[in-house]
Amino acid sequence: MYKKIKPEQLFDGYRMFEEKVLILADDGTIGDVVDAADAGEDLRPVSGILSPGFINCHCHLELSHMKGIIGEHTGLLKFVNQIVSKRYANPETIPPAIKQAEAEMIKNGIVAVGDICNTTDTLFQKNKGHLYYHNFVEVIGFEPALAQQHFDAYKAVYDDYCRSFDARQVSLTPHAPYSVATPLWQLLDAFTGSRLLSIHNQETPEEDEWFFNGTGGLKALYERLGLNEAPVPAGGKASIQTYGAYLTQQQQLLLIHNVFTTTEDIRYVHGRFPDAFWCLCPNANHYISNRLPNIPMMREEQAQLVLGTDSLASNYGLSIWEEIRRIQKHYPEIPVAEMLSWATINGAKALQISDRYGSFEKGKKPGVIQIVRNTVNRLY
Ligand SMILES: [Zn+2]
Repeated sequence: MYKKIKPEQLFDGYRMFEEKVLILADDGTIGDVVDAADAGEDLRPVSGILSPGFINCHCHLELSHMKGIIGEHTGLLKFVNQIVSKRYANPETIPPAIKQAEAEMIKNGIVAVGDICNTTDTLFQKNKGHLYYHNFVEVIGFEPALAQQHFDAYKAVYDDYCRSFDARQVSLTPHAPYSVATPLWQLLDAFTGSRLLSIHNQETPEEDEWFFNGTGGLKALYERLGLNEAPVPAGGKASIQTYGAYLTQQQQLLLIHNVFTTTEDIRYVHGRFPDAFWCLCPNANHYISNRLPNIPMMREEQAQLVLGTDSLASNYGLSIWEEIRRIQKHYPEIPVAEMLSWATINGAKALQISDRYGSFEKGKKPGVIQIVRNTVNRLY
């Protein structure tokens, strides 16, 4: 049995149309998109925009219990410091917050999530199968001499996820350019092969300050940690142009934040990692540092953009539509249809799931959502 849905506007993952009808099977499989004139009778009219379900390319579901705990505009290094010191303060709040945060994503039309995991805290909820997850098990390790030890500890978490998920849905991935020691990068490079990696990239000005000059907030952090040796060398090149050299296996990169990324950085990445996707998390950037990436420049450079919410520790909610609204406030010239393509087909390509998600194409099951007066409703 099929339904015929006729919205005011239909976004198919690529473009916005008027006078189109979505033909949808009862189990949510896309039958077709046809002209309204050819759709026959029994059309179900729907107000607003009809779109495939949203892809949230960057979340930390396991930090959901930290909503509102850290104040706004602290800057990244203070923010991370507070996450580390406060995340286990009330462990009993962790599971219910994870459950509630997932329900919020479902209500907001999200169908698939690229989720960062330092722990197995979210496994109990993910095992219920409500959403599609790509689990990025995130490796952090500052001390070069302890690289193997750090690698083995996170590899154990990775193995736990692999027991519940297909191996294609699990990646062992570096946290950030400044928090992974060079020998640990090398272990990750050898282990990951050409797999999908997610990296927090150029989120703070301190990152490039370290890589260019060896000074600033990261220098102070490394001193505080009492390291025998700096994790990564300050070699006079931008962060991404330094760690890019450690990734030798044509990995597909999902670069998160990119607040301080320059034209030269983008050109470097496009030369070396042509499949890279650039994830924007504008509400989290606003929350942590009150600054957004140079999105007009990224569009000019034809960067493949996707969207993420980051965690509830640095956001007001988990809604991709609210991320689009934040971008709209700063850059009103960007067409909504273009941002919707970041939220749907680009996200699906970035998570390597465009065979099922991201667009209204025959045989796919991407979820169907309605956007009307800034509210998102799930139709399927
Ligand atoms: Zn993050």
